[in-house]
Amino acid sequence: MSLLEVEDLSVWYGPVQALRGISLLVDDGQVVALIGSNGAGKSTTLRTISGLLKPKSGSVRFEGRSIAGRAPHSISRMGVVQVPEGRGIFDNLTVEENLVLGGFLARNTASLKKGRDQALALFPILAQRLKQPSGTLSGGEQQMLALARAFIARPRLLLLDEPSLGLAPRIVQDIFRVLAEINREGTTILLVEQNARLSLRLAHRAYVLEIGSIQMQGPSRELAASDAIAKAYLGASGGSPSESSASPD
Ligand code: ATP
Repeated sequence: MSLLEVEDLSVWYGPVQALRGISLLVDDGQVVALIGSNGAGKSTTLRTISGLLKPKSGSVRFEGRSIAGRAPHSISRMGVVQVPEGRGIFDNLTVEENLVLGGFLARNTASLKKGRDQALALFPILAQRLKQPSGTLSGGEQQMLALARAFIARPRLLLLDEPSLGLAPRIVQDIFRVLAEINREGTTILLVEQNARLSLRLAHRAYVLEIGSIQMQGPSRELAASDAIAKAYLGASGGSPSESSASPD
């Protein structure tokens, strides 16, 4: 049994069908990437898994239990934590206060403190910004805060929507390095990204979504080596997943 099993999922926005019967599996301990161009349905997939959208048909099972259509708070209590596109941090609260919000899902005060200390070790820049209103952080720091907050909640499954969006390449490399570390420490990750090159380097497996349907799937190394993927998503130079320091073990 996989940690997350999505089967034949269809989701509509009113008369618009966004997902057309997609199926995907995320095994415990893995990073799985969902790549695809604008409007392919990547965010819709994550929002359905986290309970923000109700599917018209199909199933979503987490640890063997059906979660499709459950309330978002009930799904997050089970350990499925989403970092939304745009990060979802509270601008008027300080860095510290935003981190405490992540702690609401931690099981007790001891695990909250441990999680906070570990998160600040992963993102040392945040330790220097604890009293600062989060809205005044740079885009990269805000993304780090969103990840740190999710990390403190100790998710079994972390859902990430476009963590690289709008960030400078060097910051993106930092973010992906930390994602590899979070995964090595045992968090399973489902990652939505337009940056296919970096996603395929980080992920164990990947799915390619186009106009609401899965077009390709497989181990990331195989997908990164495919001509079709190289042409459509990796630019002219193609790419090898082995180049990266962010590659999982
Ligand atoms: P992007 O990378 O641009 O965020 P995506 O792959 O995440 O794209 P989705 O945001 O899931 O794509 O959108 C999938 C489809 O559903 C698109 O055609 C989009 O226009 C449509 N869609 C998304 N949100 C809504 C909405 N609230 N109402 C109507 N249609 C929507």
